Amino acid sequence: MPYFEGWKRDVQLRDLSEQQGLIISCQRCGFNRKATKGSLCASPERELMTIEDVEVDCICMTTGCLGKVKISMHGRHTAP
Ligand SMILES: [Zn+2]
Repeated sequence: MPYFEGWKRDVQLRDLSEQQGLIISCQRCGFNRKATKGSLCASPERELMTIEDVEVDCICMTTGCLGKVKISMHGRHTAP
């Protein structure tokens, strides 16, 4: 994992503000979708997951793709 991806291991979903935009991009088909903390927190336990964990847990929502996704911050970047 590249150094600049390291913040994903340190940041939990609960650390993000409700307004923080996230981009979930598929590594397979390239489809991007916007997300927020709220849309990713399907259950309270998810708040304790790191961004890295959520990345592993998420799959592309495009029909039939189910590819791996990458999560990035939209707008202001949280310092690692
Ligand atoms: Zn996809």
